[in-house]
Amino acid sequence: MRTSSERTIFLADCQSFYASVEKVDHPGCKDMPVAVAGDPALRSGIILAACPIAKSYGVSTAERLGEALKKCPDLVVMRPRMQHYIDISLIITKIYEEFTDLVEIFSIDEQFLDVTASLSLFGDAESLAAAIQRKVMIQTGIRIRIGIGSNKILAKIATDIWAKKNDSGIFTLSAAEIEGTLWKQPVNKMFGVGSRMTAHFARLGILTIGDIANTPLPKLKDKFRARFGKQSDIHAEIMWRTANGLDDSPVTPGTFDTPPKSVGHMMTLPRDYKETSEVDTILLELTEEVCRDCRRKGYMASIVTVSCMCSPFDAPTGFSRQMKMPDPTNSTNAVFQAVKQLFYKFWDKMPVRRAGVMLSQLMNDDQYQLTLFEDQIKTRALEKVTDRIKDRYGSAAIVRASSVTTAGQAEARSLKIGGHYK
Ligand SMILES: [Mg+2]
Repeated sequence: MRTSSERTIFLADCQSFYASVEKVDHPGCKDMPVAVAGDPALRSGIILAACPIAKSYGVSTAERLGEALKKCPDLVVMRPRMQHYIDISLIITKIYEEFTDLVEIFSIDEQFLDVTASLSLFGDAESLAAAIQRKVMIQTGIRIRIGIGSNKILAKIATDIWAKKNDSGIFTLSAAEIEGTLWKQPVNKMFGVGSRMTAHFARLGILTIGDIANTPLPKLKDKFRARFGKQSDIHAEIMWRTANGLDDSPVTPGTFDTPPKSVGHMMTLPRDYKETSEVDTILLELTEEVCRDCRRKGYMASIVTVSCMCSPFDAPTGFSRQMKMPDPTNSTNAVFQAVKQLFYKFWDKMPVRRAGVMLSQLMNDDQYQLTLFEDQIKTRALEKVTDRIKDRYGSAAIVRASSVTTAGQAEARSLKIGGHYK
């Protein structure tokens, strides 16, 4: 029996999203294997999306282009157009909003819809899902798959394990039936479980999703603690709740927080800096601080501003100029390229006394999570590790080689807060 608190949640997923958008825009490629790759010119580039025809040759997302071409020499490889994909994603979100005002963007090609209140208007859940699927196909040419459940986790699992595989692209995972469906699945099919976690589970004697669900939570926490240490309680609980299909979280439109207007740092130098190498060092340190701040807060920026004050103080010169970067970023290396470009365009070669770097037009970086190309993934992973070490041991723990010179201020600044010693 349906209780009044029972919800109907959809997770709608776009099939092979980037590749599907490209096929719609290139009708001549309709019957060809198509993939979108980070850099089509490089065989080491990574496949970001492959159409179903390409997948039938064994081409898969995240594999190297060189490998993919070995399996499918006729693969049509296209360069990604991220802004275009974001625009199409927003059009699809707008279509969903015609059916319910509770739409939450989960990623560029996945949205949650709470259709509980819309069902009486549109009939039963599966007919509503089919109507939405048809409308998106007619208006955008993109095929969507919809998993249906009484909460977000069941809807997500319904999509990942079943709706992506069956002919209709629609599947309902009812909480009452998880024992006969979900629990029989191997652990690696569960949302949030990768190959390493699968190996850990195997060593704990946990092979199916049902094995997780049926281990009493305190016992699962003990097993996790023995393997991962005592901070692992939360992880154990997430796994256990997922396996049991438990999730109270609401579908929240506009989940992304509004970022602040800008993040910036300014420093007054202990003496005049005249040499390019010295100036570079300072600019890199400022860039690093600002980018680290952004990464910690989860923002990416589109605009960088560089400002500079030159001596003498009685007749100072200086400038403050900004530019738009090619892509939103919080990567030190990417921002530093722009900072240098700006600085050397406007610097009058007078000795520098004060310099600043500011990032603005900020956006949440999770909105951009799927736009990462191969090289960015590596850079970001490295920067995240570096940030973590600095958070733990102070920002002087790791400094770039250029900062270990007389021009470097990173070490001195790490001992200060707001320009003052701690
Ligand atoms: Mg998808």
